[in-house]
Amino acid sequence: MSAREQDLPQAEAAAAKPSGAPGAASGAAWRPATRLVRGGLRRSEFGETAEALFLTSGFRYDSAEAAEARFKGEAEGFVYSRFGNPTVRTFEERLALLEGAEDARATASGMAAVNAALMCQLKAGDRVVAARALFGSCRYIIEEILPRFGVTAVLVDGADLDQWRDALAEPTNLVFFETPANPTLDLVDIAAVCDLAHAAGARVVVDNVFATPILQRPLELGADITVYSATKHIDGQGRCLGGAVLGDHAFINDVLTPYMRHTGPSMSPFNAWVLQKGLETLPLRFRQHCESGHRVAHWLRADPRVGRVIYPGFADFPQAELVGRQMSGSGGPIVSFELAEEGKARVFRFLNGLRLVDISNNLGDSKSLITHPATTTHQRLPPQERALMGISDGLVRLSVGLEDVEDLLEDLDRALAA
Ligand SMILES: *Cc1c(COP(=O)(O)O)cnc(C)c1O
Repeated sequence: MSAREQDLPQAEAAAAKPSGAPGAASGAAWRPATRLVRGGLRRSEFGETAEALFLTSGFRYDSAEAAEARFKGEAEGFVYSRFGNPTVRTFEERLALLEGAEDARATASGMAAVNAALMCQLKAGDRVVAARALFGSCRYIIEEILPRFGVTAVLVDGADLDQWRDALAEPTNLVFFETPANPTLDLVDIAAVCDLAHAAGARVVVDNVFATPILQRPLELGADITVYSATKHIDGQGRCLGGAVLGDHAFINDVLTPYMRHTGPSMSPFNAWVLQKGLETLPLRFRQHCESGHRVAHWLRADPRVGRVIYPGFADFPQAELVGRQMSGSGGPIVSFELAEEGKARVFRFLNGLRLVDISNNLGDSKSLITHPATTTHQRLPPQERALMGISDGLVRLSVGLEDVEDLLEDLDRALAA
């Protein structure tokens, strides 16, 4: 019996048998908004309307024989929440339906998802090619942890296909990148890099946090595995950490699940409950985030006190053609920019002048959050590495929230005058 079958609760599996459509399969015919509200729903004997929270570590068996059968894999049902939990399963199925993935596994954080997605399939002697512009902790895994276990890591400029082509001229096991990348919003051509990677024998893992499944579906473009920090827009209200790994049945069941079961990066049922409710409203919230992001980006660009503004929704964005090809929407909720007057002192004065937008290294919250990457998320990198990634001492990253956009513009205006 596969892990997936084991994860199906008995009642639901039995109830679903006559229609032949157990679990998430029943949601595949629904349109996206319906999938996000009802996908993966498993009601208890009480018939509650909202999803129940199964905050339990273990599960009991009706008899010693039933326990034996479940352990042997002869009967369906949950065994232990490190392996699977009904609330976590609802989140996993709902997200898999949104992504169009065969299956998903939820993790305790986005970094647990990235770590599990990489470590479950790599071994000593393997070779990884990754884009240089990565979330700081992802860079740490690629550059510091993998080499300790005898994995060779090569970094390339993700926006430069020639560099990918050169690096993937050798047999490779795994390719990893995020697009748009944090915090410079450079894009990687997902379809083109997947072709090169597959020709080199590599599986492709895409960190899709910045685009979310609303704007971009890497699996449809050829990627093998998508990873998320659900902490960001999937929760969207700054409440809890979470992550997910999505892919096909063979990878999820045979490669990822055994690794996760025995190493334990599983998501708390409570966090899964919060996050699956987050999925219900993700398209609505994200539409507003993107609309406000677009407005703020254009407003910043028109202000002479502001220097370079990076926003994938600009018609003259250097990779606008690629944006049109692989992302939907009008540029997303994240804007990165520099002030006209360069340097750290000026940008700190601006940050300290903000009254509404919060200084925080997080993103994807209903509250607008602003980060100075050079001194926070990317301070670990040597200055020349930051320069290579386009992270100047004056660059800030703004995650536009759900406040009234006029209040945000007033706050930015006041802080720019500081
Ligand atoms: C936040 C983030 C992560 C890490 O997620 P956590 O939930 O904080 O562990 C990974 N990748 C990207 C692109 C992120 O923004």
